[in-house]
Amino acid sequence: METLNKVVENLIHQNGTTSESDGEHCEECGTLIPPLKIFILGKERWVQPVCECYQKKMLQEREVFQNYQKKREVERLFSISDIGERYQEASFNEFVMRKGAENAFKAATHYAENFTAYKLQSLILYGVPGNGKTHLAASVHNHLQKQGKISIFVRMPDLLGKIRATFDKGKQESEEQILKALSICDLLIIDDLGAEKLTDWVEDILYRIIDGRYRMKKPVMATSNLDPELLDGKLGRRIYDRLEEMSQPIENKATSYRREKAKLRTTKFKKFLEE
Ligand SMILES: [Zn+2]
Repeated sequence: METLNKVVENLIHQNGTTSESDGEHCEECGTLIPPLKIFILGKERWVQPVCECYQKKMLQEREVFQNYQKKREVERLFSISDIGERYQEASFNEFVMRKGAENAFKAATHYAENFTAYKLQSLILYGVPGNGKTHLAASVHNHLQKQGKISIFVRMPDLLGKIRATFDKGKQESEEQILKALSICDLLIIDDLGAEKLTDWVEDILYRIIDGRYRMKKPVMATSNLDPELLDGKLGRRIYDRLEEMSQPIENKATSYRREKAKLRTTKFKKFLEE
């Protein structure tokens, strides 16, 4: 007991005073902080508490650090996010506006610019292949990344391939890690939803992803070549119900830009042959 008393004595000498003082002024804000009377092992002691502003500052610093850690963790896991070279610099500014794409463009820009206000609200852009849906989704992704948000952009077939690859022993990421990262990022963008062949395994993975987002109260953005009815049929009720509950489908009514470009090339070539 004597030894314990000694330890306490030492602690008090280091961290507090044994008599009442006038208190100390906070180094940050200047507020006078009065000393506090406490009892240690039945002995009355006076200690000098820290200012509230200092506690707040410490909490903020801790939060910044935790956010940083979270970002690093997600970034490490999300070497899986793969926007591809073609869309790496995609932005709303350079979107080629064509007839029928107005609503989809408006919805995507508004979504990106007011992302935090949308909360769980998810967005599905659908329409014929090659009409600019992926460009819009990539623009949302790039916009959010610049705002410091963690956005994950994946093509569904690629993602499934990556999850399958984790079955090989010796891979760094496990299926669980990937699914965890998919559930905690601020926005998950799935490009080309419905393009995958739906086996039991794919359905299970997809449900876990969508349901994981739903449970974490985090949104999903998806592009699809299938309209809601076809997508429902393709993905099955269980998955589509969840998705429908979370999201707003928007049609991009523009025709295929890629096809038009190809047509233009053919016409030019024909002309060239005729000349
Ligand atoms: Zn203070």
